[in-house]
Amino acid sequence: MSIETGILYIVATPLGNLADITYRAVQVLRDVDLIAAEDTRHSLPLLRYYGIDTLLISLHEHNEQARAVELTARLRAGESIAMISDAGTPLISDPGYRLVANARAAGLPVTPIPGPSAVIAALSTAGLPTNRFVFEGFLPPKAGARQRRLQELTVEMRTLVFYEASHRIAASLNAMRDVLGRERRAVVARELTKTFENSHGDTLAALCDWINAEAKRRRGEFVVVVEGASESPHRAPSLDIRRLLSVLLTELPVKTAARLAADVTGDKKNALYRLALKIASESSQHPA
Ligand code: SAM
Repeated sequence: MSIETGILYIVATPLGNLADITYRAVQVLRDVDLIAAEDTRHSLPLLRYYGIDTLLISLHEHNEQARAVELTARLRAGESIAMISDAGTPLISDPGYRLVANARAAGLPVTPIPGPSAVIAALSTAGLPTNRFVFEGFLPPKAGARQRRLQELTVEMRTLVFYEASHRIAASLNAMRDVLGRERRAVVARELTKTFENSHGDTLAALCDWINAEAKRRRGEFVVVVEGASESPHRAPSLDIRRLLSVLLTELPVKTAARLAADVTGDKKNALYRLALKIASESSQHPA
């Protein structure tokens, strides 16, 4: 395969199983002048496995701004560069955004070499609707911010996809159960493509019990796929639920406002009750 000069290749690498890499990715990584890797030490076993000895340079969140300028200059001078992250597709909850933005702003070509990404791997096997989905990446680590983020998602009807790490998976699932509702269906996909791969689907309430029951279920890397809020066939196309609840709350208690909003929109009463509580507490903190 001939490599063109002055091109930035964004190359997807395996999520865990070394065999999950495309022929083209291996060829590109062999033939470029330089590979920018999130962690050079982490990527060495993969590169060695495929007999790739291309020059390596680091590009991670702490040096990305400087590297973006430096690498854009090298691209402009005619070098070809591949960017890889520790796993999956660069830029997807991973570094690379500044480099790509810089290269494009300089009018330089950026080409994807597609392959694995945990969001797609989990979604494609979760058995939840895939025609429309929202990728949320990692929830905020602090409990209050995490809860606020989830509250904003209570009426989202598209399937939701979250990334999570082992030390926060239990807390995040508990927060999803409390804010999105006990009965919402979800799938916890763990260690995809690796030895201890596991995918477990149930209601959020049951998933919390399941994950809390055994420490080994909380080890590894996780994707959580959650079904969207239930369909509301009666909703007027442009009805603003927040606005509707805010107006009702000026005259009515939270419970009644939520019930009336559910009658009007066809949305679930529980989700609207939680949203109404949030709006009521916001307006008590910031009275008009
Ligand atoms: N760029 C990667 C991608 O394309 O999926 C994501 C990188 S992000 C820093 C790492 C997170 O992705 C993990 O905390 C986990 O949520 C998810 N992830 C990565 N590999 C995974 C795997 N094998 N199984 C489950 N989740 C995984």
